[in-house]
Amino acid sequence: MVLKPNFDLHIHTNWSDGISSCREMVEYSISKEIRLLGISDHFSTDPEKNPRMARRLSDYYEEIRFLGKEFEKQIRVKASLEVDARTYDFLSEKSIKVLTSQDFDYYLFEYVTDPYSYYPIETRDPVIIISKIKKFKEILSDSCPVGIAHMEVRYLKEDKLEKVVDDLAEAELFVELNSSKDNYKHEKFKPIIEREDIKLSIGSDAHIKTRIGDIAYPLKLLKSYNATKRLIFLEDLI
Ligand SMILES: [Zn+2]
Repeated sequence: MVLKPNFDLHIHTNWSDGISSCREMVEYSISKEIRLLGISDHFSTDPEKNPRMARRLSDYYEEIRFLGKEFEKQIRVKASLEVDARTYDFLSEKSIKVLTSQDFDYYLFEYVTDPYSYYPIETRDPVIIISKIKKFKEILSDSCPVGIAHMEVRYLKEDKLEKVVDDLAEAELFVELNSSKDNYKHEKFKPIIEREDIKLSIGSDAHIKTRIGDIAYPLKLLKSYNATKRLIFLEDLI
């Protein structure tokens, strides 16, 4: 079975900073013969970032489920969030409670390896952040993938990179190849692609509908490594 670029596990709607509604994104995806769509709007407890989502998480979730049901014959729609790792209360007890208040299909975490931040160092050390995400994953069901969005590894020193890759595998987190950025093409990303026990995902990070499914290059790259069998939700594509 040859995988086609007919899926996308990272898109944004007007629930956060995207332009189109969930409905427009789903209908457009169907018109482009996308078979699997993951809606992953931003979630942050930083009051300046996306307070709406934290307040109305159940409405967001219900809307995605409603559309998933309505169009179930044409497309699989997954409900997700892209969770900001650069907050003081990152995965605090309170924020875990909110994040798990709905039955999301998978979680993406962003800014896990971002060296530029106005937050203190302990909130942006990837080893610390990954250990917190690992604990978060452990309270979810095994069938709920948790992973890192557009992982930036080029600034990590070699020994730190090795540790991060080991920790990712140990924590059973997936790593995303995000076609809106070029970090996955960097030399230092290779150890992740080559590491057989790390799961993978691909997303476009589309904020406008016309970019949905723009994943041809990362998919081709994974094929060249014979790594597509490590993609999450593969069962929905074959
Ligand atoms: Zn995103």
